[in-house]
Amino acid sequence: MYRADAPGRVNLIGEHTDYNEGLVLPTATPQRTVVELSPREDRVVRVESEGYMPIAYRLGEERHCGDWGDYVRGVTWVLAKAGHPIRGFDAGIASRVPPGAGLSSSAALEVALLRALRDAFSLTLDDMALAYAAHKAERDVVGARVGTMDQLAAALARTGEALLIDMRKTKIERVPIPADVDIAVIDSGIAHDNAKQGAYNERRAQCEEAARRLGVASLRDATLSDVERLVPQSATLARRVRHVVTENERVRAFVAALQADDHARCYGARLVGAGFGGSVLALVDADRAADAARAAAERYRSRTGRTGRVLMPV
Ligand code: ADP
Ligand code: MG
Repeated sequence: MYRADAPGRVNLIGEHTDYNEGLVLPTATPQRTVVELSPREDRVVRVESEGYMPIAYRLGEERHCGDWGDYVRGVTWVLAKAGHPIRGFDAGIASRVPPGAGLSSSAALEVALLRALRDAFSLTLDDMALAYAAHKAERDVVGARVGTMDQLAAALARTGEALLIDMRKTKIERVPIPADVDIAVIDSGIAHDNAKQGAYNERRAQCEEAARRLGVASLRDATLSDVERLVPQSATLARRVRHVVTENERVRAFVAALQADDHARCYGARLVGAGFGGSVLALVDADRAADAARAAAERYRSRTGRTGRVLMPV
């Protein structure tokens, strides 16, 4: 029996920057997904996960089915495609990463499964290669148009430190989070839906259009004077550019504040995710995080009638 795990992730700052070759700053959640796996002699794959219908298939017969099994089939498909030899297996998944809450349960599942397969079949895959394999599984078999941040974070991030990822060069720097700072995350209970997915896709298209008009490869290369140049053409596109330019600056300023242990500068709260629902994240004093999160959730309920769910601290 082989056992492996991977964490969820929360992005401290850097929204709508990943697909513009910008900067992001995720860290690992304390919640993890655990996979226990026993190799088989044949090519049958059987996987169970608490709360989901069990899945079974044969290696080589992976296809998109529109259920959670796509994440598993995606992983075995991508390994085969890359020439990594595996046999069938029985696996059980147990996860504390809440699905669909913006903590990237999907990447935690892919990375944990890939790690268990790496151990069971002695695959030569480092954590970086594993992150890319997980991303390819999600993009090509699940069919999600996502960047690589989630999988890089699940494969490389640790609690207590953030990963400063430069999406242009996939350059990664580890930034310690001061021990007396804690992260609170509250799920607003307002989930992404298809219309909002549409709004996200629209943002992506607008960023591509703005980059094209400015004659740059991506908005990573844009500047505030480009914003001014775009205003007469399109106030909307100019706003998109301003966000990306200043958001990259905010990531750098935030990292500098963390490194200087400057709490007054690095404390704050914001909506995480692409901005259409999801969770609220706050940096708070470590010994007050649980109380602060509970108080905020209670205030949210009394003001809106909606129930927020405290995801962190656990
Ligand atoms: P997020 O990654 O932000 O949690 P996604 O929509 O990308 O949201 O992934 C959620 C999906 O991943 C679930 O609907 C399910 O299909 C799959 N998934 C996540 N965790 C598990 C799990 N423990 N067992 C089975 N499937 C899971
Ligand atoms: Mg996901």
